[in-house]
Amino acid sequence: MAYDYDDQNIFAKILRGEIPNDTVLETEHSLAFRDINPQAPQHILVIPKGAYVCHDHFAMEATADEIVDFVRVSGQICADLGVTPGAEGPGYRVMANAGEHGHQEVPHYHLHIFAGRPLGPMLE
Ligand code: IMP
Repeated sequence: MAYDYDDQNIFAKILRGEIPNDTVLETEHSLAFRDINPQAPQHILVIPKGAYVCHDHFAMEATADEIVDFVRVSGQICADLGVTPGAEGPGYRVMANAGEHGHQEVPHYHLHIFAGRPLGPMLE
């Protein structure tokens, strides 16, 4: 895979501390913060700190430590929100857009976590 990472994207600027964010959880390899334009009562973005463009880039080229950290952070957030079905929570949705057809706006890999209301069918 050949991905050119644009280090001027807004999440790269967040990671460098150049623009503020509403941090929910930060670890060695990942940062989670609230979406600036929430589509649900809880709308959190999880990003790896590494320079990955989209899901397949991250999945194929990140280290095992980065991947485990990222997935665990996403799970921890769901647990902290109290929405996990395993603890009789109401549930949630995780989603990652990629590229043009996936309607990805920010070219730094990110996972959306939506919760706090019934989310309806998956696709429009
Ligand atoms: P995408 O369409 O999957 O790339 O989603 C990008 C998301 O980033 C959108 O939901 C935006 O609302 C969100 N976003 C853009 N800029 C910021 C910011 O500065 N802070 C937090 N969220 C942002």
